[in-house]
Amino acid sequence: MKHVVGRGPVRSLVLVTVLSLGGTALATSAASALGRDVPDPSEPAVEATSTTSPTPSPGPTVSPTPSASPSPSPSPTASPTPTASPTPKPTATPKPTPKPQPTPKLITRSAVLGTTVQGRTIMGYYRGWSHTTQRRTLVVLGQMHGDEKAGLQTADWVRRNVKPTKGSEIWVIPTMNPDGNARGTRTNARGVDLNRNWGTSGYRSSGKGSRTWGGPRAASERETKAVAAFLRRKRPDYIASVHQPFGVVVRTGKDRGWERRLADALGLPIREVGVGTPSGLTSPTLTGWYNRYYGRHGTATTLEYRASVTSAYAGRRAGLAITGAARVRARLG
Ligand SMILES: [Zn+2]
Repeated sequence: MKHVVGRGPVRSLVLVTVLSLGGTALATSAASALGRDVPDPSEPAVEATSTTSPTPSPGPTVSPTPSASPSPSPSPTASPTPTASPTPKPTATPKPTPKPQPTPKLITRSAVLGTTVQGRTIMGYYRGWSHTTQRRTLVVLGQMHGDEKAGLQTADWVRRNVKPTKGSEIWVIPTMNPDGNARGTRTNARGVDLNRNWGTSGYRSSGKGSRTWGGPRAASERETKAVAAFLRRKRPDYIASVHQPFGVVVRTGKDRGWERRLADALGLPIREVGVGTPSGLTSPTLTGWYNRYYGRHGTATTLEYRASVTSAYAGRRAGLAITGAARVRARLG
C-alpha cells in the first residue's frame, strides 16, 4: 500500500451506517460463482463420523429367535428349546454403545481459489483438524501487490512449519496477485490496484493508469472476486494481509490485543493509515471491506513490513508473530 502513514487525523476506517448495495451484490455474485472451488474442511469430519456408527453391529446374534418358534412341537415335554430364552440379552447390547471418539487428524490440503486473466492460479493452503470443531480461523495473505515480495516468505514459512492448535485452522494464500508477482508490478495484469478494487462506499473508478487505479468497477477483478468469495465463506477470525514498505501494523481498533501482540512480535509501531478515502466512507481495500461488512466475524489487519527485511524476519519471525498473535499455533512441526 502506498499511502500516507500516521500523518494528521486520517480516519480511513470510520464505520458508516449506509450499506453499499453495489458492493454487497457484487460480493454475493462472486461468492456464488466461485464458492464451489473451495472445499469445506469440515466435510471430512462429518463423513468420518457417519462411517464409524455402523461398526458396533452385533445384529446377527439377535437371530436365535427363530429357534424358539419350533418349540410349539406336539410334546410340551420336549422343551429343551427354552435354551432360546437368552434371546433377550443380545437385543439389549446394541443400545448403550458409546461411540469411540475418532482421533483428530491433521488435514493438509490445497485449493484453487481462482484464476487470473493470464491463467495463473490463486492458491490457498489449508491446515486444520478433522473431527474437531474449528473455533478459530486465521488467514495469512502473503501478497496483494506484486512488487512487495517479503510476505511470500511469510506465507511459505507458515505453510511449511506451523501446526495449528486443535480447534484452530490456518489458510495461507501466498499471493492473490500472481500476475503482478510475475511482472513485478504493484497492479495486476490489467493495471488495477487490487487494494482499491473492493466493493465499499469509498470505491472510485478514477485514476486509470496510476498505481492506485481502482479498476473499471468495484470488485471488477478476478482476483478480488476470488478472495472475496473465499473470505465470505470462511469468515476468518483473523486476517493478516502483508504489504510493504511502511513498517507499521495498521490500526483498526477492532481488536487491540491482536494488534498489540502483532506489533510487539514484529517490532513495529501501530499506526492509522489512510488511503485517501473521504471521512465517512469505507476504504476500498480488503481490510476496509472485511471489517466493514464481515467485521462481526473477525478482524482484517494490514501489516506493512519495512522496505528491506531479511529472510529470517519475513519468514520465521513474521510467521511466528502472526500465528502467535492469532493464538492458533500449537507447536512447530
Ligand atoms: Zn501493498
